[in-house]
Amino acid sequence: MPAASQEHYIATRTANYNLGMGEDSSNKPSLKTRLARILKPNPSSQRVSKKPVERTGNETRNISTGGNYQNQGNRRPSPESEYSSHVDIQTGERRDDTELLHSLADHGFFSSLTSEPESNPRWRGADSGAGDQLIASLPNDIWEVITGYLSLADVASLAFSCKTLRYQLGPEPWKTLQDPDNRASKIDFLVSLDSSLPNHIFCYPCLIYHHRTRKGQERLKASLALAPIFDCPNALEPTTVLLRLRLTSDHTLPFTFVQLALRACHYSPDHGISVESLARHWKSHDSGWSHETSYYYNKGHLLLRVVSKSFASAGLPPSGMRHLLYSREDYTPYFSVCAHWRDGELMNLCKCALSHIPKPKEKLTQQLRKGPQFQASFHNANPIVSLCRECRPMRRCPDCPTEYLIDIKLAEDRNDPSDRFKQAILVTRWSDLGDGSTPLSPEWASCNGCAEFDSFAAIGRRTISGIFESQSGVAIPGQRMLSLNPNNKRLGEEGHNWY
Ligand SMILES: [Zn+2]
Ligand SMILES: [Zn+2]
Ligand SMILES: [Zn+2]
Repeated sequence: MPAASQEHYIATRTANYNLGMGEDSSNKPSLKTRLARILKPNPSSQRVSKKPVERTGNETRNISTGGNYQNQGNRRPSPESEYSSHVDIQTGERRDDTELLHSLADHGFFSSLTSEPESNPRWRGADSGAGDQLIASLPNDIWEVITGYLSLADVASLAFSCKTLRYQLGPEPWKTLQDPDNRASKIDFLVSLDSSLPNHIFCYPCLIYHHRTRKGQERLKASLALAPIFDCPNALEPTTVLLRLRLTSDHTLPFTFVQLALRACHYSPDHGISVESLARHWKSHDSGWSHETSYYYNKGHLLLRVVSKSFASAGLPPSGMRHLLYSREDYTPYFSVCAHWRDGELMNLCKCALSHIPKPKEKLTQQLRKGPQFQASFHNANPIVSLCRECRPMRRCPDCPTEYLIDIKLAEDRNDPSDRFKQAILVTRWSDLGDGSTPLSPEWASCNGCAEFDSFAAIGRRTISGIFESQSGVAIPGQRMLSLNPNNKRLGEEGHNWY
């Protein structure tokens, strides 16, 4: 059957089905339609089927769902299809509705119905460019209103998202970012590209992405060892933003390594280095202090722990305590501290803890020099030192996310065979280094003393030390968390409490 006559046939049949289902009296057919109906033969009246209503329903369902006609591979008429055949009374031709529908399917009639979502460009996805056309069709005024609600960095990101938006918004958003006044917005925009640049690392002095010259081989070195991980023309220039965190007098943590460790956690190992690879253990031969750093990733932030240890004698005079605690070069503590160590009680608490070390009992030879009698208990001083209610509790710096714990413990000195076990002072520091997005992040900047931070409001009840130690299943005994600076006096170097 020719395609034109097929369509005419379907149209006629559909009109008859509608009539069979009842017409709305309010929607009366026109005179022309009524005349056409009278003059045209009604196929439904000529059927020899037994159940015309059921057959009609079946056909209608198959049309609407695209049909299972392709699955009825063999064209052998089913019992049902026999009911659907009818005879044209004028030509005597026997017509089979099922055969007709099969032939329509063969001509792609139904496939054109079901495939409309793919064929219609309005229904296609963004990859076909339909989204671009839709964006391009919006007038400029609307984009001006939309961008009016966005930050500079967001407008630049919008212009960067696709070519259509780039042409729509023009180069202005990017030109605006070049203004030195918009430096913070430029950083926000560039940092948003971080996940798409695994082979590069963002450099804050230059505000560009440098190529990682030692990709995957970046190793944290002591401050004095120059081991650049990218070629930066401004590497030795002074910066307004602190890009290194002081760990001890001879070790710092460059912000680049915080970036690398957190990129590996946030995106993929290819983007950076593992958090575990940052851990270090070293001993300063000048001071006698040994240090152990470890890091932990928690909820998008990098946490740091530094355990600093030094053997300490009992009964030290004030000058001896200072000699033990402070560097002679810059009068900063040998152990790891945040930028606010001068304010508050940290140094007084260390001196208090040192004062609790019991004096060693007289050695056997010293006792025998006085006389023939001696007491063995004299020599064995109690190895467990208990601290007082002032120096024992955990302390939190109110101005940055840093916590401290001071302890006196018996430790082994392998370099002194005559007296191997001695008391040592341990100062443990835990800090939250932030999310590594920028060195302007509140945590990083406040640990360096470059931003204000209310640690008790920001951290809340769960302590940084508790989160850090819970990773290894070590539960820190419940302690009071006190402020490191209970009087909230911030005098810095001008104060008298730090030396
Ligand atoms: Zn650079
Ligand atoms: Zn004490
Ligand atoms: Zn602090």
